[in-house]
Amino acid sequence: MSTSRTPTTVLVLGAGMVGTCTAIHLALRGHTVTLVDRREPGRETSYGNAGIIQREAVEPYPFPRDLATLLRVAFKRGADVNYHLRALPALAGPLARYWWNSSPARHARIAQAYARLIVHCLTEHEALIQQAGADDLVRRDGYRFVFREASTMREAVADARRFAESHGVRHAVLDSDALAAAEPALRRRLAGGIHWLDPWSVSDPGELVARYAALLQRLGGRVVQGDAASLRTAGAGWAVGTGTGKVEAEHAVVALGPWSDALLRPLGYRYPLFVKRGYHRHYTGGAGPRLTVLDADGGLVIAPMQRGVRITTGAEFARLGAPPTPVQVPRAHALASELFDLPRPVEPEPWLGARPCTADMLPVIGAAPRHRGLWFNFGHAHQGFTLGPVSGRLLADLIEGAAPVVDPAPYAPQRFG
Ligand SMILES: Cc1cc2nc3c(=O)[nH]c(=O)nc-3n(C[C@H](O)[C@H](O)[C@H](O)COP(=O)(O)OP(=O)(O)OC[C@H]3O[C@@H](n4cnc5c(N)ncnc54)[C@H](O)[C@@H]3O)c2cc1C
Repeated sequence: MSTSRTPTTVLVLGAGMVGTCTAIHLALRGHTVTLVDRREPGRETSYGNAGIIQREAVEPYPFPRDLATLLRVAFKRGADVNYHLRALPALAGPLARYWWNSSPARHARIAQAYARLIVHCLTEHEALIQQAGADDLVRRDGYRFVFREASTMREAVADARRFAESHGVRHAVLDSDALAAAEPALRRRLAGGIHWLDPWSVSDPGELVARYAALLQRLGGRVVQGDAASLRTAGAGWAVGTGTGKVEAEHAVVALGPWSDALLRPLGYRYPLFVKRGYHRHYTGGAGPRLTVLDADGGLVIAPMQRGVRITTGAEFARLGAPPTPVQVPRAHALASELFDLPRPVEPEPWLGARPCTADMLPVIGAAPRHRGLWFNFGHAHQGFTLGPVSGRLLADLIEGAAPVVDPAPYAPQRFG
């Protein structure tokens, strides 16, 4: 089995942002790559997100530790968080570890490892955007946090100043007047805003993945439909059943986003994974924001996109496959309508997706501890759309045995045993 730079064969399971970028980085280095998904590329989580390439997101979201927030969550008072009571017993273990990892000292250490990936997000996307001819989907003028409460704004501005000093993240603080001038469609006065100047926004996230998958094909990679659950060892490598028959390869990469756990468990890996589900719906007919807006006190995002203004909700703690309970969607729409005129829903039902989360807020990138030729690239939580290209590069480095783009140790699968 090769871990050198001699050309090898690789099956990449999962054609979301993470799997597609992994496949591209392998194909760019001359390896023979087959990207396998049960659907077309970019039709699941990577389709329905808020489309922000989040250069500012140098710290992952910690578990809330203040009583006021915990009570609001417990009583399901906000639009930002919902949960299914029935899901809580299974979630208790990973959530307890998530809470433990969210202590200020541990979170600070984790954030350092997180930022080392985030700092590469723009340059890594840019290279693929240019090769994929996807410039028309991307805006490079940042996005805004807006604040109803002066106290929330004060805390966020302090964080923004910290991120500027520690990670070079650029921002501009907008007072109430400046925000009203920047977003003329705003219906009411707010305390103010932060304009993050570095992030990019994508007007159709699923289409960006589709363009990246087309790039992969131009590079000689294959994109096929198949079920990752059919993965078996075959000789010294791996095989999976696809619509065009069995495909064998020396290496296999699990990049199944929120479905990764379903493949891992039969292989004997019990990782502290969980999902934070999220909904979106598009609205037309009124006047939305110029730039994507995060309503920091409401806990929702309002993103101008190709199909209309996409409103995305916060987190829903539920089983991955449990029926949709989109109670946050009307709450989010009511809050968004206080800010902008967004009268007509586009889809009859909201879209539902699931952020693939780990208990230590870091993705899982590296070699499977107990299976030769098996590799993991999943668990990117709130920022998988942002991190797909750099994670793909890092895993390609590891498969080749090349010098890694960043120190891979914090993301190593072994940390979970
Ligand atoms: C509401 C919401 C807003 C978000 N906003 C942002 C944002 O603004 N910026 C950001 O960076 N991130 C955002 N995220 C997070 C981001 O969308 C995810 O982290 C990212 O899409 C995960 O990508 P992935 O490739 O790991 O998973 P996915 O995109 O889900 O890809 C996994 C693939 O595996 C395939 N698959 C699953 N099971 C099988 C099987 N058995 N056989 C074959 N194929 C299979 C699926 O079809 C899918 O295509 C948001 C998420 C949500 C839900």
